[in-house]
Amino acid sequence: MIKFEKERRSREEFRKKLSHALDTFVVDDPYKSYRARGAFERRAATTLKSVVTNLNAYADRLLTLATENRFKGSRTMPQAYAARAILDQIGRDLEVILRALQQRLPPLASDGDEIVTRLQMADNLAYAALQPALDAGLVEPAAPVSYFQKSNSIRVIPYARVALVGVPFSAIALTNDMLAIPHEVGHYIFWHAPLTRASLSGSLLRHVQGLPSWIQAWTEEIFSDIYGCLVAGPLMAVSAQDMFSGVPIEYFIRDDGEHPVSAARAYIFASVLDTVGMPKLAKAFADEWEQSIGEIYGLRPNDPVTVGDGVRVPLDVVREDLDTVVRRIIGVDLFHMMRPAAQSWSWGDKADADVVVKETLETDFDAYVQQLLAAERPLPYLDTNIDGKEIRLENARQLTSVPLGSTGYPMLDELIARLEDEAEIAPALWSLLISSGGWTTGPGDGPPTGGKLFV
Ligand SMILES: [Zn+2]
Repeated sequence: MIKFEKERRSREEFRKKLSHALDTFVVDDPYKSYRARGAFERRAATTLKSVVTNLNAYADRLLTLATENRFKGSRTMPQAYAARAILDQIGRDLEVILRALQQRLPPLASDGDEIVTRLQMADNLAYAALQPALDAGLVEPAAPVSYFQKSNSIRVIPYARVALVGVPFSAIALTNDMLAIPHEVGHYIFWHAPLTRASLSGSLLRHVQGLPSWIQAWTEEIFSDIYGCLVAGPLMAVSAQDMFSGVPIEYFIRDDGEHPVSAARAYIFASVLDTVGMPKLAKAFADEWEQSIGEIYGLRPNDPVTVGDGVRVPLDVVREDLDTVVRRIIGVDLFHMMRPAAQSWSWGDKADADVVVKETLETDFDAYVQQLLAAERPLPYLDTNIDGKEIRLENARQLTSVPLGSTGYPMLDELIARLEDEAEIAPALWSLLISSGGWTTGPGDGPPTGGKLFV
């Protein structure tokens, strides 16, 4: 098709221009003094450049299949959708990559600026949040790169070992807003663990089987809330309560089809604390929450909330179902995190308590952040081999290298290699390929979040 041929040429032109611009920006001599004025951090810059390099190579393999008309269309999946979906993803990834790079260069950032210090803090926190999942072999090591944006988010990128974590701008000043990071890392694990071991998604599916469909729709968010709370501790529960109790009533007692209804969501954190052996603190949180929702919204514990397709369910029933899911997920998938490391995040000395003392939790968290930064441990980063044929993850416990144009995830790489040998690819297979383990369907594709912190 002539149309596709033209598209292919323009696409190559676009990629060449982009690669050239990034090369100039990141390595060329004329920009040396410019980079020196900023907090040019080789680690983040080479990581981002390597991500773009493999984005080009990986997307090219997918787009070649699309432009060679190998994807067969159907009544429900038009052939032209494939190329458009891939180009859209390239755009979304580039938006995030360039934003992350820009925030580490002048005029936005100069060495010693608060924004730079805070990005380094966020990178360290993101890697620390990933650590328990690495220890358990749930996911493979990845280079953490954070950036500020309107709200928090994570990009699911199948073709590079990178955790691109979006942190709200408010975290430049408010350390507590950095608590969005462990929840986002939870999303990262939700999407990447199944690529690594293929067991998490099946396990999560079993935990919600038999429960109402509206709770099944919340699985990813429940998992991320649990993971975030297991990492960051009781302060996460405080922070969540603060956030949820500040939303207008129509969002407070109605879900969005993705996140648990706010009135009940705070109970997830109490359930987590109870499950890890802090029953008194868990009860104190739940009691405080019950009191707050009464004072703020005039809501009683058994008042109805609206979930799914407009079903009205008593709040305490939703709470009970959430508690069931929390216990199953921790008991089966995250049991290795039942004993959080003492003196980390806001776990402090891990003493169970009858009252919630927010100040103590904040002091513990501040101390943890300072100790993490003082440790100055080298974070993993991505680099392209000298011959340009491999992307390597440096500074990680195990050396990971991925051939250019591959993902390093056997199931995805085998799928693409198999489909490259086929003359005609059925819609079910090509849609599986272009979604690449959450690339085109991952979080962040939904409607605006209305300034919610843990999206
Ligand atoms: Zn979320």
